Amino acid sequence: MTLRVLVVEDDREIRSLMQSALTVEGFEVQTAVSVSEARALLQHAPPDVMLLDLGLPDGDGIELVQEVRKHHSLPILVVSARHQEAQKIQLLDAGADDYLTKPFNVAELLARIRVALRHRGTTLDAAIKVHELEDLRVDLILHQVHCRGEALHLTPTEFKLLARLVRSAGRVVTHRQLLSDVWGPEFTEHTHYLRLYMAQLRAKIESDPAEPRHLLTETGIGYRLAAM
Ligand code: CA
Repeated sequence: MTLRVLVVEDDREIRSLMQSALTVEGFEVQTAVSVSEARALLQHAPPDVMLLDLGLPDGDGIELVQEVRKHHSLPILVVSARHQEAQKIQLLDAGADDYLTKPFNVAELLARIRVALRHRGTTLDAAIKVHELEDLRVDLILHQVHCRGEALHLTPTEFKLLARLVRSAGRVVTHRQLLSDVWGPEFTEHTHYLRLYMAQLRAKIESDPAEPRHLLTETGIGYRLAAM
């Protein structure tokens, strides 16, 4: 089955770079240069994945994400410039799956698309139950964490936080999403909880907590559990 990607990007150079890279990978590529064009294509023939540039000439990406989320579960990857941090977080909180910062490399783009597609596939049937990468193994059913061959003891909150990241393995999860899912919706401003618990988790899991290989920081945005 050929998967269809919708690239929403007004910069001609970036658009054609994405188009050729994705075509080589075997995707069928549709392009739109504005929110209104994207809207029309989405109504006519919804794609399997959408890549959404943040700076578009005719409107707001967040409205488009909210509209898409009403009708479709397709993965949305936000592609943004470095300075558009605040908007990026809003879009992730509104239901976008992940983001890439320009300039990105094509391998990274393709890896993110694969992760996003895999997650959409798994959320429909069985969710992730076991996460394994290098020296780390997390079993969400048995509530067990093994690291470098040894069983780790985590507190209930540490486990909850790790489990939340496992369910989105490979994708960024915003501070707000983590605080809301682990501590509750009334705790979304308590970012110091996250910093504290992430430090504890890293001390237990990472062989060098100062150079984490599993629990990655996405500066100003959130955290990402490294995945294959
Ligand atoms: Ca743009």
